[in-house]
Amino acid sequence: MYHLFGGNEIRPEGWLLRQLRMQADGLCGNLDRIWPDIRDSAWIGGGREGWERVPYWLDGFIPLAYLLEDGDMKRRADLYIGAILDRQQADGWICPCGPKERKTYDVWAHFLIGKVLALYCTFTDSARAKEGLYRSMQCLDRMLRAGEITLFDWGKFRWFECLIPIGFLYEDCREEWLLELARMLRDQGADYPSYIESWKRPMNQWTFHTHVVNLAMMLKYEAVCCSLFGETYRNRAEELWQVLEEYNGTAVGTFTGDECLSGIANNQGTELCGVVELMYSCELLFAATGDCVWARRLERIAFNALPAALSDDMWTHQYDQMVNQIACIRFPGKPIFRTNGADSHLFGLEPNFGCCTANFGQGWPKLAMNAFLRADDGVVCSMLPARLHTVIGDTRVCIAAKSEYPFRFSCKYVVRVQKPVRFALKIRIPEWAKECRVDGRPVELTGFYTIEKEWSGEEAVSVCCTDAPRLVKQRSGLWSAEYGPLVFALPVRAQYRKLEYEQDGVERRFPYCDYELLPQSEWRYGFDGGPLTVYLQEGDEIPFSSVCPSVTLKAGLCPVEWEFADGYDSVCAKMPVSASAAGRAEEMQLYPYGCAKLRMTEMPFAGRDEGME
Ligand SMILES: [Zn+2]
Repeated sequence: MYHLFGGNEIRPEGWLLRQLRMQADGLCGNLDRIWPDIRDSAWIGGGREGWERVPYWLDGFIPLAYLLEDGDMKRRADLYIGAILDRQQADGWICPCGPKERKTYDVWAHFLIGKVLALYCTFTDSARAKEGLYRSMQCLDRMLRAGEITLFDWGKFRWFECLIPIGFLYEDCREEWLLELARMLRDQGADYPSYIESWKRPMNQWTFHTHVVNLAMMLKYEAVCCSLFGETYRNRAEELWQVLEEYNGTAVGTFTGDECLSGIANNQGTELCGVVELMYSCELLFAATGDCVWARRLERIAFNALPAALSDDMWTHQYDQMVNQIACIRFPGKPIFRTNGADSHLFGLEPNFGCCTANFGQGWPKLAMNAFLRADDGVVCSMLPARLHTVIGDTRVCIAAKSEYPFRFSCKYVVRVQKPVRFALKIRIPEWAKECRVDGRPVELTGFYTIEKEWSGEEAVSVCCTDAPRLVKQRSGLWSAEYGPLVFALPVRAQYRKLEYEQDGVERRFPYCDYELLPQSEWRYGFDGGPLTVYLQEGDEIPFSSVCPSVTLKAGLCPVEWEFADGYDSVCAKMPVSASAAGRAEEMQLYPYGCAKLRMTEMPFAGRDEGME
């Protein structure tokens, strides 16, 4: 339906550019310098991890380098891709393992490096990378067909990821064997709808079919199959989403999963890989189906759950984030998490496990790559600050979206064309908008506002949406505040305790150390039922600043009685003891969820009338 623009046609601007620059100056932009599993990976001839970590990292690092037009980062990406291709075997096998280990090597990494090579080609048009990818898929095809390797574990549960590089090659060469390979993967791969029942009740057990990252990824399986095989799309993704959301949904549009589904629980974790993979699936589903529901879901996750798990300087991240998160400390005893370790919600280098360390980097760059999409009749626009340089027909077109969205709700599109050309500018109207005006005139609040006409010279279109802050009832029965696409939370003041140490040959040293966050202010509150008011200020250089957010809400909050979760002194119970106000309401400031590293997001309605009973 819609397609990504070419690798170098979109440039981030405004806060999005600053966010990407911070990512480049933080952990993602420096992993090849400081983290042994990237610096000394078997993928480039070293002795460390030779499976998913380098490809995961490149999946974010490559688009980051090209979106920022950063010469040094591009050179480092080239070095890795070059070193990987140098080691490709004569028969096309591309992963770093000897011939005898191939049978037991989980081919998920093979799919992932395929995705990375396809992505690299969209930015560089590298003939060598494309040929390497082609040969690697030929090898996979031959070995699967001969039964020399099979899908198991991650490869079995992530089979559809390989259809992305297969689709990239097929687009180019239209060779039938690629479709056969894709069918073989589908036949050997996991059939997710058959697991639906197991998503309805959390298990205290680790399984592939309730794994939150697998489930975030799998939502796109039907869409990638349909675009490759030309089959009719039946919207299985929506059915699967509905079940996941009903039984595991959170206030910020993700599913609980630490790292397997954890039910409706505001004090359980969601793995960061699950956040970025869910974003990627939503991006792909919006482009494949044109259904705005996926763009809405994408924004909810991107503007809330993603920044929440990343520190202001983007040097540290959480493995698991909680919606109501009153402390991030190493659990002295059994962690609250169902299947993750004691340090999973620390902000650090590789809390719990290093997958998110390598993988989180794809979140912001891929969002930027989706700021504009190509439609048959024109251009689909989000309100993200970015600039598009493309060619329509044979005419050079530049569209600049000037905005501070989602911190402000207006956007000015400046369209500049080399000579008069007809195309449609399809502006997506956010679903939360109470009103939307285009060039001052109210427009219908449905999906897209399309301006189809002959554009000439330089023209501007301004879009202005309005919303009123509101309380939204969550599945727990508690409430959270929302304004536009942002969810708001009561920030709990945090004391950062720095932890520097070395473990298994991996050094944690500032700025890539670990931090425990200890609560320094009261967290037991409920909404008093009074109005929420919006407070706008300049903000600092950090878009989702934990110190100075550019938009906050003022709310009346009453103290309520609320205990810790049973057996813990650093986790709040899912529900307060009572929703009755235990004191007078105070006016307090709510921060965007992504800015409040310690926070209470879901709170009861401690209505004024019920207070002091
Ligand atoms: Zn992870």
